[in-house]
Amino acid sequence: LFGDGRMFLPQVVKSARVMKKAVAWLMPFIEKEKAGGNASNGKVLMATVKGDVHDIGKNIVGIVLQCNNFEVIDIGVMVPATTILEEAQKHNVDIIGLSGLITPSLDEMVHIAKEMKRLDRTTPIMLGGATTSKAHTAVKILPEYDEPIIWVKDASRAVGVAQNLISEVNRDSFVKDTREEYEKVRLLHEGRNRQTEFLSLANARANCVKIDEGHIPPAPNSPGVSVFDDVPISELRDYIDWTPFFSAWQLNGAYPRILDDAKKGEEARKIFADAQSMLDSIIAEKWFTAKAVIGLFPANATDDDSVIVYSDETRTSEVTRFHFLRQQQDKKDSRANLCLADFVAHSGADHMGGFAVSIFGAEAKAVEFQKDHDDYHAIMVKVLADRLAEALAEKMHLDVRKTHWGYSETESLSSEEMVREKYQGIRPAAGYPACPEHTEKGTLWQLLDAETNIGTSLTESYAMYPAASVSGLYFASPEAKYFTVGNINREQVEDYARRKGMSVEEAERWLQPNLGY
Ligand code: SAH
Repeated sequence: LFGDGRMFLPQVVKSARVMKKAVAWLMPFIEKEKAGGNASNGKVLMATVKGDVHDIGKNIVGIVLQCNNFEVIDIGVMVPATTILEEAQKHNVDIIGLSGLITPSLDEMVHIAKEMKRLDRTTPIMLGGATTSKAHTAVKILPEYDEPIIWVKDASRAVGVAQNLISEVNRDSFVKDTREEYEKVRLLHEGRNRQTEFLSLANARANCVKIDEGHIPPAPNSPGVSVFDDVPISELRDYIDWTPFFSAWQLNGAYPRILDDAKKGEEARKIFADAQSMLDSIIAEKWFTAKAVIGLFPANATDDDSVIVYSDETRTSEVTRFHFLRQQQDKKDSRANLCLADFVAHSGADHMGGFAVSIFGAEAKAVEFQKDHDDYHAIMVKVLADRLAEALAEKMHLDVRKTHWGYSETESLSSEEMVREKYQGIRPAAGYPACPEHTEKGTLWQLLDAETNIGTSLTESYAMYPAASVSGLYFASPEAKYFTVGNINREQVEDYARRKGMSVEEAERWLQPNLGY
C-alpha cells in the first residue's frame, strides 16, 4: 500500500512499532517452538557510509524493509568500506544498502563499488540519500561495478527494488532494464556536459556583481566570537519551519495547508500532534541542550574570489581566508556570474560572520526508544532535533541582524516571512549550491573554535556531528542572495586548488559534483 501511495510513511512506521512490540513479547515462546529455518524474504545490510552521520533515511528504509519480511542488519553510521564488506560476507547478505546525505558520501559510494569489484564480490547494492541521484549512480558508480547497483529514490520504492533483486523470476530482467535505463541517463548527461559553454575565469570575474562599496552595513555591535551554551528550547519552538518536518515523514506539502489536505491531512494532523506533545516533553524534561557559536569579523574580498578575515579593525593581520567559487557558465545575457565574495567590499570597513549551532541529546533518546521497540518515536526525536537545529540557526540569524551585528535593528517580520527569507542578508552553508565545497567548514571551525566552544565536530567528510547541526556564513549586504555555482571548468579548479593550497587532484575530489569536464 505504501509503495502504491495508498498508505503514508507514519502509518507504516507506527504499524512497525505494533509489530515489533508484539514480536518482542512473543519471541521467547516462538523460539521454543521454532524448528529452525529462516522464513525471511532475504537479508539486507544497511549502513551510512564513512564520513557521514545522517541516518533518519536509512532507519526509515530499514523499518519499511522489515515490515516486508526482510531481515535488516543495520551497522550504523560512519561505516568504512572494509567494515561494510566484512559484515556483508559474515552475514551472507542478499543486498547491501548504502546511505549518505552529503556530497562527499557520493565519492565514498564509488569507492565501495570499486572495492567490491576488486574483491570479486557480487552482492547487489541499493543506495539512497539526499545528494544521491540516478544520474550520479549511472555516471559514476555503475561503470565501477558489474553487479546490480540500484538507486532508490525514496523509502516507498525500497521494497519493490529489494523484492526484484531477490526474485528468481524478475531479477534478471529488472537488472537488465535498470542497466539499460542508466546507460541512457549516462549518455544524456555526457551530452549535456559537452554543451556547456564556459567563460574564462577572468571574464567570469569581470562579470561579477558590483555592490555599492560606498554604502556597506555598519560594523557589528559585538565583534569577535560569542558562545551561547544553553539556549532554552522553549524559545526555539516559534522559529520552527514545519514544512520540512512533513517532508522528513514523506508527506510533501507546505505547512499549514498540508493539515487540511484531502488525502494527507489526517496523517499530517496526527504526526503534527505527536510532534507537539514530544516537544512538550523535550522542554519539560530537558531532553536536549541547544548550543550556538557565532563570530563577526572585519573582512574584505580579494580579486580572486576569496574573503580575508582580519583580527581587528586595523585590518593588518589576516586570521584566515574563505575561498569561494564563481558561476562560470556563459549565460549569454546581462546577468552577472555570481560568487559569494561579490557580497563583501574589496576595501573599507566591511564585515563577514559565521555560525555553528547544534542540538545535543537526540541520539541517546532515540536509543532509549529503540530499546523499547519504538522506531516511531526514535525517528520522531531525531526529526525534531533537526528542526530545532534549523530553528536555532534562524533565531541566531535574527539576533545577529537585530543585535549582535545590528544592521537591521528595526526589522519586524512574521515567522512566515522569516521562513521565506524576506530579511536583509543571507547565511549560506558549505555544501549547498552557492558554496558547494565542504572543506570550507574546516576553516569556519577553526575561526569559531567550534569544537571547543560548543562540542560540535567534523568528520573526515566534513559532516557535522551531532547530525542535528547547522553552520554557515553571514553576509549582510542587501544585495546578497542565494544562487547555484553549477559546473566549473578546469581553469577554475586549478585556481581554487592554488588558493586552497591543495593539489589539483584533491580539489577535483572535493569539487566532484561541480566538475564540468
Ligand atoms: N527553514 C529551513 C531552512 C533551511 S534551508 C529549515 O528549517 O529547514 C535554507 C538554508 O539553506 C539557508 O538558510 C542557507 O543556509 C542554506 N541555503 C539555501 N540555499 C543555498 C544556496 N544556494 N547556497 C548556500 N546555502 C544555501
